[in-house]
Amino acid sequence: MRALIVVDVQNDFCPGGALAVPDGDAVVDAVNRMASAALFVVATRDWHPPDHGSFVVKGGPWPVHCVRDTSGAELHPGIDRSLIHAVVDKGQVSDHDGYSGFEGTELERLLRERDVDSVDVAGLALDYCVKATALDARRVGLYVTVHRRATRPVEVSPGDGERAVAELRAAGVEVVD
Ligand SMILES: [Zn+2]
Repeated sequence: MRALIVVDVQNDFCPGGALAVPDGDAVVDAVNRMASAALFVVATRDWHPPDHGSFVVKGGPWPVHCVRDTSGAELHPGIDRSLIHAVVDKGQVSDHDGYSGFEGTELERLLRERDVDSVDVAGLALDYCVKATALDARRVGLYVTVHRRATRPVEVSPGDGERAVAELRAAGVEVVD
């Protein structure tokens, strides 16, 4: 059984958002195409309390973004919600980054319940939450494929996207175009 994990395709991570990933909304069409062909689709959302520890005002590295129940935290309107079977909210605890969709969520249980052994991973951003989610999926024993067409890096430092790909491959994650 194969599932698709759509990581954090949210307004705040798309152009115009609080923490925009360059060209982030370019993943929307690819994600919808993959979702329409997938048997089980889980979308993760970064879903922070207003005082999340990752925010600059709290000493973290990021501007305020994806505060729960705000429009910035909603999935990009181009994502076809009818293709999403489950939504998993992460990053809800102030003192954890919550980059990975597996961190403190029901994601692993949802996959196990459906006997998922392979996952495709897409979404934002390649060098943070996509990477962390794919590495955790590998860690819990799943076969993992990351699709470059359906992800974009934020590249706080130039080259972070390529470094993420190398790290994923070294961990046994397949990275395809
Ligand atoms: Zn976040």
